[in-house]
Amino acid sequence: MSSEPAARPPGQLLVLSAPSGAGKTTLARRFLAAHRDAVFSVSATTRAPRGTERDGVDYHFVTPERFAGLVAAGALAEWAEVHGRRYGTLRGTVEASLAAGQVALFDIDVQGGEQIKAAFPRQATTVFILPPDAGELERRLRGRSTDSEDVIARRLAAARLEVGRGLAGYDYVVINDELDAALAQLEAIAAAERARLAGRREPAAEAVALRCRRGVVDVGAWKNF
Ligand code: 5GP
Repeated sequence: MSSEPAARPPGQLLVLSAPSGAGKTTLARRFLAAHRDAVFSVSATTRAPRGTERDGVDYHFVTPERFAGLVAAGALAEWAEVHGRRYGTLRGTVEASLAAGQVALFDIDVQGGEQIKAAFPRQATTVFILPPDAGELERRLRGRSTDSEDVIARRLAAARLEVGRGLAGYDYVVINDELDAALAQLEAIAAAERARLAGRREPAAEAVALRCRRGVVDVGAWKNF
């Protein structure tokens, strides 16, 4: 047996974005449950906790003043305003997970995903999640609550912006038609990209990931969204 210590795996930043209602949070939870070396990147936000959300677990809940202080101190790796609230990723969170060789999973919007990709072009992989078609997204957005038409219209407009940017610039697109299939694609993308970082080949994962590349995936159903 070799006494060589096992090489630390390279840290990886896996960014998930989606229009609201695409099933991104469920996919993220399933991925985290299946991968012990994956950690959820806990963001800072100025919005209030909802339901069972816990400070430090779901988000770091901060005041607008504290958030402004983090921005001024350069403590955020990215930040954006979403639905009138501010959200950002602490630089320390990213650096700690990279140093530990973990897979950090980000549930952030496209503005944040673009910033993470620009700051960490080698380690970051951006994955845009879409429901099967625009009609399905509209149904999910409407089916979620008893909000007024006005609120739904605004949510749809935000979704259109998000989809436009995701399809224009993200590395991969996963169509969440069926949860297990979408999870398998996400896992293949993560494995293929991690192999690339480690200088290994992972042909089976690479073949699946290739079919999820932006520009390869058929997004015809979204042309008129
Ligand atoms: P929610 O308030 O529903 O938890 O999140 C609203 C939106 O903000 C979601 O699209 C979520 O992905 C995004 N978000 C959460 N954390 C961050 C973050 O740290 N940075 C950015 N840019 N977006 C975030």
